[in-house]
Amino acid sequence: MKKSLYYKKSKKYKNDYKILKYIILIIPLVILLILFINSFDKDKLDISLENIASFKISSDNIMKLEEIANKYNIEFSQLLTYYAIENNFFNDKNIDISNIEQNFIMNYDNIKNKYSKKSVEPYYSLIKNILEEIQTFPISLEYSNNYIYGDSYGAERTYGGKRIHTGTDIMDKENIIGRIPIISMTNGIIQNIGWNEKGGYRVGIKSESGNYYYYAHLDKFEEGIQKGKEVVAGDIIGYMGNTGYSKVEGTKGNFEVHLHLGIEVETKLTKDELWINPYPFISYIENKQKNSK
Ligand SMILES: [Zn+2]
Repeated sequence: MKKSLYYKKSKKYKNDYKILKYIILIIPLVILLILFINSFDKDKLDISLENIASFKISSDNIMKLEEIANKYNIEFSQLLTYYAIENNFFNDKNIDISNIEQNFIMNYDNIKNKYSKKSVEPYYSLIKNILEEIQTFPISLEYSNNYIYGDSYGAERTYGGKRIHTGTDIMDKENIIGRIPIISMTNGIIQNIGWNEKGGYRVGIKSESGNYYYYAHLDKFEEGIQKGKEVVAGDIIGYMGNTGYSKVEGTKGNFEVHLHLGIEVETKLTKDELWINPYPFISYIENKQKNSK
């Protein structure tokens, strides 16, 4: 009887020891698993596609950022990328850039270390590609008294169902059909040309990065502009008009004379179409061109 009790006890200790052994083994495994999962989290930034697309920053602020980048010998696209990431792509508020040197540049290395390179890469290439590709405003500066535009991204549109405006409209101030030549902002290949219901006479140009630059509501195309043709930034592709909003090819006058400009970005962030707000980029290049005149 005594012996068997002792035996039972020792078996119980043996079992406890076994459990303890498992626990000791499991704890480091759990810690490793948590670290592993966290490393994945670090590769995903919490910015919605909508906020990326409606990217808002004034041309003055972009130019200020470029100045700072040059001053501190930081690559401009990289600086703009981290600044956009830190500020939710400028969707929440009008950013005050006046303290950027104290608040951002002095902590730049710490800010960069917050994100893995892999997680930042898609945002960086998105911004870098557009900044590098757009070499000119879509209208020559000699017409700068004839057009007017603002940030109309996200405004409501109703033709063809309720939707948001995914581009920038540049209006002819006097509503005159066909007077303002439209030039390609980038180098690229003409991928689409002709009529579509919403865009009227439109030209779509694919750049080297795979971005798609879309020019719509043209009155007519420039002679020789055709599908597959290579264009360089500054080439005239057509003339500002008011075509579109109809299944009937050639329909004019359903709205004021303007250019609808769209940029559909090629990005790893989504497999769906992503039309980014062109306004910050084109107002920046326009100001740059005006300043260098
Ligand atoms: Zn438009």
